[in-house]
Amino acid sequence: MTMRWMATLLVAGSAALGAQAPAGIFGFTPSSADRERTIETRFLALPSADRAREYHRFLTEQPHLAGSDRNRELAEWMRDRWKEYGLDEVEIVEHDVLLPWPVEMTLEMSEPRPWKARFSEDPIPGDPDTATPVIHYNAYSTSGEITAPVVYAASGNPENYDWLEAHGIDVRGKIVLVRYSYPYSYRGFKALTAQKRGVAGLLIYSDPAEDGAKKGPVYPDGPWGNDSHIQSGGIPYDFMVPGDPLTPGWASVPGAKRIPRDEAASLPKIMSAPLSARDARAILETMSGPEAPKEWQGGLPLAYRVGPGATLRMKVVLDDEIRPIQTVIGRLRGTSAPDDEVILGNHRDAWIYGGVDPSSGTASMMDLARSLGALARAGVRPKRTVVFASWDAEEFTLTSSTEWGEQHEAELRGHAIAYLNVDSSTSGPTFTASAVPSLNQLIAEVAASIPDPKTGLSVAQAKQKDDNRQTSGLPNAAGSALVSNRLGSGSDYTVFLNFIGVPVVDMAFDGAYGVYHSQYDDHLWVSRIGDPGFKYHEAMTKLWGVMALRLANADALPLDYRPYASAVAGFESELEAAWTKNAPTPDASAVFEPLRAAVSRFAQAANAAAAAQSAALASGEPSQLEAINHRLMHAERGLLDPDGIPGRPWYRHQIYAPKFTYAPDLLPALGEAIEAGDSAAVGAAVSKISAALDRASKALAN
Ligand SMILES: [Zn+2]
Repeated sequence: MTMRWMATLLVAGSAALGAQAPAGIFGFTPSSADRERTIETRFLALPSADRAREYHRFLTEQPHLAGSDRNRELAEWMRDRWKEYGLDEVEIVEHDVLLPWPVEMTLEMSEPRPWKARFSEDPIPGDPDTATPVIHYNAYSTSGEITAPVVYAASGNPENYDWLEAHGIDVRGKIVLVRYSYPYSYRGFKALTAQKRGVAGLLIYSDPAEDGAKKGPVYPDGPWGNDSHIQSGGIPYDFMVPGDPLTPGWASVPGAKRIPRDEAASLPKIMSAPLSARDARAILETMSGPEAPKEWQGGLPLAYRVGPGATLRMKVVLDDEIRPIQTVIGRLRGTSAPDDEVILGNHRDAWIYGGVDPSSGTASMMDLARSLGALARAGVRPKRTVVFASWDAEEFTLTSSTEWGEQHEAELRGHAIAYLNVDSSTSGPTFTASAVPSLNQLIAEVAASIPDPKTGLSVAQAKQKDDNRQTSGLPNAAGSALVSNRLGSGSDYTVFLNFIGVPVVDMAFDGAYGVYHSQYDDHLWVSRIGDPGFKYHEAMTKLWGVMALRLANADALPLDYRPYASAVAGFESELEAAWTKNAPTPDASAVFEPLRAAVSRFAQAANAAAAAQSAALASGEPSQLEAINHRLMHAERGLLDPDGIPGRPWYRHQIYAPKFTYAPDLLPALGEAIEAGDSAAVGAAVSKISAALDRASKALAN
């Protein structure tokens, strides 16, 4: 029953998609499409790989951690360039937020041999940027000092701790060594899991099997990290609430209320530090106890044992300062609908140089601001306003985007069309996009219109043909489909999607990338390995720019909710299958009936909106276009519930949330209720999600 119903929806969705894509441009009348093509042709002549390289060299010249003088200088430089390029209303917005920097990082043992961990990395001959060591740390670790034996817990997931417990190994009060995971699992989840198990200190290291020598040649000979490389990173519980931990859910503007540290849901209560493989090896060599299971063995040349091992002294001191951070905002005012905004964002702050993350994206954004500014000065302005945002402290807890979004919630709810995020623009040649399904067609059309630098095929075709791609394994490496509709978290789109209900896309060119959050992620890595020639930086500027222009200039907003209904039907069906498998009673699926009905109404409303969109485009009648645009703009907002999802009021979206690992949590209230085996919660989730879908359907119908 469920499968047949789903299949019908899927067929309806794809047939409609086919009919919707003639030679024209989605959202444009035939005559506007001609004008748009002329504008795009002019635009596409402007982005330049050489310019991207110059921007990149400048942005990565010095470390620019959030809160640093250098990161403020880059904000001021960006503001001045944007003004010069012709953007309007360019400003720096400051927020004062909790932003801990390291004071002392110590990890040492005296038995069986004296040894001390290094929290900095080896210099690379020929790469002068790596000559000055920087201290690595985990932001939002607690400060303290402990002396305790060490235990190895593989990835630090709950099942790893269950195994240890079953084998009589007590982790309470101990130091636990875990590894970063491939594919990515957010380090804050490892911290929370360790905290729950009573661990006193957490060490997270980069195993060569994950992102080092076991994967292939290490930098400077290849993309992977050497045995001294360290992945810094925050460990806040921003899957509970992102942004400044002391102003959860409201903006850190002057005079804002701040909660005490011990009331902050996103602050860990455990000490944590990142380690290199080389230092992890020194610790693993001291391990006694049983040999770890096969899947726990890693890429170091030794038999991994679970311990206990040496007694270590671990000391972490962070300064826990409140520091100012800077968001740079620049607007290109629209001509006919200036209040409606298409927002483009990338973060500026980096752990160290931020070669890929985020300066590749910043370089693409700078060249986009220059190109769209040049068009505007030549008299070609968008109809709707295009907003450029350079976020700060993303690396800490998605901080400035969250604060800015909270500060401007009302305006964004009234007028934001879409948010286009590019964090890392380029670590390789494989296009990857995660988006809400209403943007699928826009992304597909734009990706089909921009050439892939390496193959000469379109970006969309290159993605389809690329079947032996190497990926970074990071959250933005979104799988084999052109657009993944499974959104989790891990970058600045979160406040727009989960708190305000704005359609979002997160894009990158992805590839093998083993130096994430290390000092080796720098200019030379990018120019030698990630994107020699900077052609993919240029391609990203073009993709990003054409998407922005189409959203800003379309007669009817290029949003299609039919694929959204199909996607939600798919998510529902997966969860229903999971529930009925564990509760195999004849009427186990009856509880889902109201949700299936609501999805069906959502699909009908999406079909009706698409028909009205086509009719408005055919007539070209301004009042009809205005009416359908209003419907399309507000549909995503309907999917929010002001109470949020259970236990996480900040995460209001009822279709998408991040799991604690940052992996996508789809129909989160329902998924979590099913995982807990809680039938009352399943019923409550069904009502909440159905009500959200009905609000979206109503928005689409009005
Ligand atoms: Zn980033």
